[in-house]
Order: sequence, then structure tokens, then C-alpha cells
Amino acid sequence: MKKDDILKIKQLLKTPKQIVIVPHKNPDGDAIGSTLGLYHYLLKHKQNARVIAPNDYPDFLKWMPGESEILKYDSQKEESDTLISQADIIFTLDFNALNRTGDMEEALATSKALKIMIDHHQQPDNYATYMYSDVSMSSTCEMVYNFIEMLGEKNLIDKNISSCLYAGILTDTGSFRFPSTTSRTHQVVGDLIDNGANHSEIHNQIFDNNSYDRMQLLGRALSNLKVFPEYRTAIITLSQDELNEFNYKKGDTEGFVNYALSLNNIIFAAIFIEDAQNNIVKISLRSKGNFSVNEFSRAHFEGGGHTNAAGGKSNLDLKSTVENFISILPRYKNALNNE
Ligand code: 5GP
Ligand code: MN
Repeated sequence: MKKDDILKIKQLLKTPKQIVIVPHKNPDGDAIGSTLGLYHYLLKHKQNARVIAPNDYPDFLKWMPGESEILKYDSQKEESDTLISQADIIFTLDFNALNRTGDMEEALATSKALKIMIDHHQQPDNYATYMYSDVSMSSTCEMVYNFIEMLGEKNLIDKNISSCLYAGILTDTGSFRFPSTTSRTHQVVGDLIDNGANHSEIHNQIFDNNSYDRMQLLGRALSNLKVFPEYRTAIITLSQDELNEFNYKKGDTEGFVNYALSLNNIIFAAIFIEDAQNNIVKISLRSKGNFSVNEFSRAHFEGGGHTNAAGGKSNLDLKSTVENFISILPRYKNALNNE
């Protein structure tokens, strides 16, 4: 972030403001961790801050300090709209295009508040007054740590802030294994542990909270796994009926796509999840190396994200979506085999 921008933001935060902090729709660990981490920091500045999420998030994120204070736009629209219209500053975290907030888009777009983006996704839109956008970053949580450091206030990072930021770095780096993890990421995480983040407890809350139903659903997902060796690609499908059979709850399919990517010789993986309520198929894409699933998703599935992790959707039914995906693969044969 530009030094000049930091100085201006520092000046802004000297007096109490009405602040709203927003993550993307269907928030993940990095989205909730970064918004709550920033929230706790702003409270220390005696700011009137509030996190408003577009919608609900998985139970395994609900242990985070401050979580119960989060407003959900889809079920608390009136209160949220009032806060957004009265806000002096809106922070948008872990996304870079307002349409990633779903039904909140209009309220955010029409708000007169000064907007500050902190985000690590590719190809940011141009809606923010101040932009801290860096696609090389492991996570938005690492960026919030940097942001606080740039403001010269690392000393304010306490157990609450540390726990939230640690959780987001942990989840967005796939437990520190994705290539975006750097030695700096580890230094930041080390500092967060020194400031009170309990890494073992956080790991348990996020990863060792499985329901029996979720494990059974994983079993079904794995038995649906299909491999296309000539394209070094593996895919998983889950229909709405299968989700219903195992009492699907938000977050239950988190990480399933990584099992497809973990197969030997596979560098491209996809999971197709039917969403009957919204009449779409939600798609998660993962890759290894330089094959950009961000580009792939933008080109074919109305989505985007990072080089190695992206999401998208299809308006076709599940079977046709998968057929369409398979029909696209030959165009990428060279790219997939030259990795
Ligand atoms: P996931 O597959 O876990 O939902 O998302 C993987 C990455 O892609 C995340 O960083 C997420 O924010 C991003 N992403 C997921 N869905 C979309 C989408 O529809 N559009 C864009 N631009 N990014 C997405
Ligand atoms: Mn993220």
C-alpha cells in the first residue's frame, strides 16, 4: 500500500468514525478471520465498527472472538442497510469486485462512504478510494497484519486479533502448504502465536469438528471421483439428492476438491456441487503449477479467484455442466501436459 495512503488512513482513524467491514458472500476462514481481526483492531481505536457478512458461514468458524456480533445481510437487511448508509468508511476484505457480495452489491455501490480494499485476488475492480491489493499474498489475514504494521501499531495485536488472523492464514494456505506460503507468512504466524493465538486449539476447532454425516458425504464424494489421465484432471460431483441424503450443512464440502488434486499425476481438479435452491451448479477449481484456474473459471464458469484456487458456477444442470467441462478439456491438453 502507498505510504501516502497509509498516512491518510492513519489520519482518518484518529477520530471516531462509523465503520463497516465486509467479507465476500459465502465467507470462508480468511474472509471471517480478516474481517474480525480488523474489527478487533478498530475497536482498540474506539471506532464504531461492525462486520456485516452477506450471508451465513460454516459452524467451524463460529468460535472466533467477536463472531456473535457479525450481522448477516440476508437475514438482517434493515439494520445492515442503515449501518451501510451511515458509514464513513467501508472496508472490503478478501474480495475485489462488489458483485462478490451478492445482494449487498447495490447498498455498497450506492453508499457514499470512503472505501478501503484489502485483498489478494487477481484483477481487482476499481471501486475503492484506497486499495491494498497484492496477489502474491497468502491470505487477506496476512495483509491485515501488514496493514496494522504499516500503521505502526503492531503493539496493538492481542490474543483476539491474533486468533482471528491465524485462523485465516491457516485455512487459506491449506495449513501452510500452498505455494503462496512464504517465510514471511511463517514469521507473521510466529508473531501471532507469540501474541496469544493457540495454534493447536484453532486447528481442532476448524479441522477436527467433523460430523458423522460429513464423513459419509466425503465417502460418497470420493466414490464419485473420476480421473481423466490424458488431461491430468480429476473431478468430483455431488448432486442435491446426495447432499440431502447426508443432511448437508454449509461448509460440509469444504476441502473435498483437494482430495482430487492429491492424486498422483493430477494437476487440475474440480468439484461440481448441485444447488437446487439457486438452480445452479457451484464449481470449485484447484490446480498445481502454472495452470491458471482463475483464467479457466473466468473464461468458462463466470468466476475467478487465484492461479491455483478459483470458484465459479454453471446454470446448466449437473450432468450437462460436467459434460460441458469435459468438452472443454481438449483445448487445454497442451497446457495441462506441459506443466
Ligand atoms: P472456493 O472454490 O473455495 O469457493 O473458492 C476458491 C477461491 O476462488 C477463493 O479465493 C474465492 O474467494 C474465489 N472464488 C470462489 N467463487 C468465486 C466466484 O464466483 N468469483 C470469483 N471472482 N472468485 C471466486
Ligand atoms: Mn483469501
